[in-house]
Amino acid sequence: MSTPTTIMQPKTCTVTRVLVDATVEITPPSYAYRYWRTTPEERQADLERWVKEFQAFLRDHRSQDANILSVVPVYENRCSACDREYEPAMYADTPDGHPTAERPAIHEGCAWCGALREKGGA
Ligand SMILES: [Zn+2]
Repeated sequence: MSTPTTIMQPKTCTVTRVLVDATVEITPPSYAYRYWRTTPEERQADLERWVKEFQAFLRDHRSQDANILSVVPVYENRCSACDREYEPAMYADTPDGHPTAERPAIHEGCAWCGALREKGGA
């Protein structure tokens, strides 16, 4: 993250949770990844192998397995001032927002545009 830009006129923003995408997750039968007996690396390798087999199976058959398919919404916190993904930064009551010994950084704001976050919201 770059350092906060100069704040000429203190502006404010709100943060809202925005739907930005949706993906599908599948939970395979547990034999596919031997959960209790493997490391995360082994599980990933097992699952990649299983996905290849499963895709081949779906191409050739009508599946009777109880595979759980889930649509997973993907959310992002957005800054209302610049419409980018909100990343918090701390600002002080100084002309440029940078803290000094007397005026510490006490306001949370958007790291991208420097808008100070209003109370409330997401
Ligand atoms: Zn912003």
